[in-house]
Amino acid sequence: MHPKELTNRNHRIVSELFRKWGISFDNYSRTENPNHIRFVRETFKRIEENGYIFTQEMDLPYCEKCSRFLPDRFVEGTCPYCGFEGARGDQCERCGRLTDPARLMDPYCTICGSKPIIKRVKHWYFDMPKFTDQLIKYIENNKRLSVNARNFSLNILREGLKPRPITRDNEWGVPAPFKGSEGKTIYVWFEAVLGYVSATIEYFKNRGSEGWREYWFNRDAKTLYFIGKDNIPFHTLILPALLLATHEGYNLPWNVCTNEFLTFKGQKLSKSRRVGIWIDEALQMFPVDYWRYTLISIRPETRDSNFSWSIFLEKVNSDLNDTLGNFVHRTLVFINRYFKGVVPAPKDLSDDDKLVLDNVKAQVDKVSEDLEKFKLQAALRDAVELSRLGNRYLNEKQPWKTIKVDPQSAGNVLYVSIQILKALSVILEPFMPFTSKEMRRMLNIREDVRWDDALTPINPGHRIGEAKILFRKIEENEDKLQEMLEEIRMKSERVSFEDFSKIDIRIGRIVEVKPIPKSKKLLELVIDIGDGDTRRCVAGIAEHYSREDLVGRLVAVVANLKPKKVFGVSSEVMILAAVDGENLALIQPDKPVKAGSKIS
Ligand SMILES: [Zn+2]
Ligand SMILES: [Zn+2]
Repeated sequence: MHPKELTNRNHRIVSELFRKWGISFDNYSRTENPNHIRFVRETFKRIEENGYIFTQEMDLPYCEKCSRFLPDRFVEGTCPYCGFEGARGDQCERCGRLTDPARLMDPYCTICGSKPIIKRVKHWYFDMPKFTDQLIKYIENNKRLSVNARNFSLNILREGLKPRPITRDNEWGVPAPFKGSEGKTIYVWFEAVLGYVSATIEYFKNRGSEGWREYWFNRDAKTLYFIGKDNIPFHTLILPALLLATHEGYNLPWNVCTNEFLTFKGQKLSKSRRVGIWIDEALQMFPVDYWRYTLISIRPETRDSNFSWSIFLEKVNSDLNDTLGNFVHRTLVFINRYFKGVVPAPKDLSDDDKLVLDNVKAQVDKVSEDLEKFKLQAALRDAVELSRLGNRYLNEKQPWKTIKVDPQSAGNVLYVSIQILKALSVILEPFMPFTSKEMRRMLNIREDVRWDDALTPINPGHRIGEAKILFRKIEENEDKLQEMLEEIRMKSERVSFEDFSKIDIRIGRIVEVKPIPKSKKLLELVIDIGDGDTRRCVAGIAEHYSREDLVGRLVAVVANLKPKKVFGVSSEVMILAAVDGENLALIQPDKPVKAGSKIS
């Protein structure tokens, strides 16, 4: 497949997944667009003019079998720093250090697996060491960086920066703009990070404006990056060094907000070993906000954290269902039941009522502060705390009782409660956008809101909508959930020809049919699978075929299954049927053949 075809396909798939996960962008761009390519080439020309680019011969692994150089991830081997086997040519996954492909020990070509030879070749280098002092100052003065990002970057700086080769002998990529560099492209990590600038340019250009300069040159503008910790050096060292090298006065990253790693049931997530949950699989299991809530709650902000099914169950069942969902539902149901769906007018609010309203404001402010500090975990916890506060308040005030003796005080309590609900519907938006929209639909207020709306009260007399169930309790246990995941995965995996050829599908003749006691749907069939060799089959077809329909009929049979007990009967083979909703049709040959004939 040509890289263009692959990137087109992946861009489509990834865009769709972002949409389904409620993640939206002002400009979800691609670094292969002409605007980016032009910007990168111009920027590197400028950096060259400023004297930070030089050429040098270098040793590079070369695969004779593939007839190509093996830069970056085309070669793997043992890390010269930490001894990790399977370190990539450009970076070691374990110690995070940037590596030099020629220095990997026991290298092998990742395309064909053979051992490369070392060849000399000319490349263009970026003179990183010239920026050492400026970068140290930049990192040390940037108090917002996480401890990990700061220490990691300073360690690299203290060990001493080396000039970095920035061209590659790859066909796919941004063509290098230097004299004599024809046929070479710019190394991805030295151009992709410039995509932050080029995407801003593209966004404003599409609107016919030069507004992008406000973001990159106005000293009050702040650029902020959310990345995993393995991408730290590209954002704290390489991007700032490139921006400095232009001499144009770009703003350097204001904060690089880094995540540590997430593990799955204590294991490192791995695509090849199939450890983890793929984000498309996740949505086949449960609604997206269940996942967003759980993942933000355990976001690895300061250290690695772990996902397990028991954590997921606790988050969904106890936080979402019992706490948040319960508060929302009770408040709406009470107003619908006691006040015909109209928000009651408050009168002579008690000190308790006023205190709760004050607490709502305090809690909303707390969430804002958490978010400003990029403490998403704390922000979400503090947001959901508002529903705990609401539940406690309802439990104490018991409007379902006071409505009979003191309707005004019940009205006051529900007036206060609906303000809590309103605030929740706004502050949950960044975390659970679908839930928060649903809450606003039930409140019968505008679906799109601004943060400042959180504390604008819903007025007395406003008519609310029907209460709907926001979340459902998950009844399955941990093992069952893992089983569900594996079933979904099995269905989406492609079967190889080899796998398929292991299945023995053949024609069988039904010789006997018996009912299965206590089952309306199942029948026990005895099937001749060739030469009078009979097997038992428990099939869920009793509602579609009678005994008379079946005896003597030829059917398609999977003959080499491991036997499985169904209703106490060992089912040894499976018959095939087409299922179209309620309609079920057995598969049979369109002219007579012998029982035992192979289906191929
Ligand atoms: Zn290493
Ligand atoms: Zn090779």
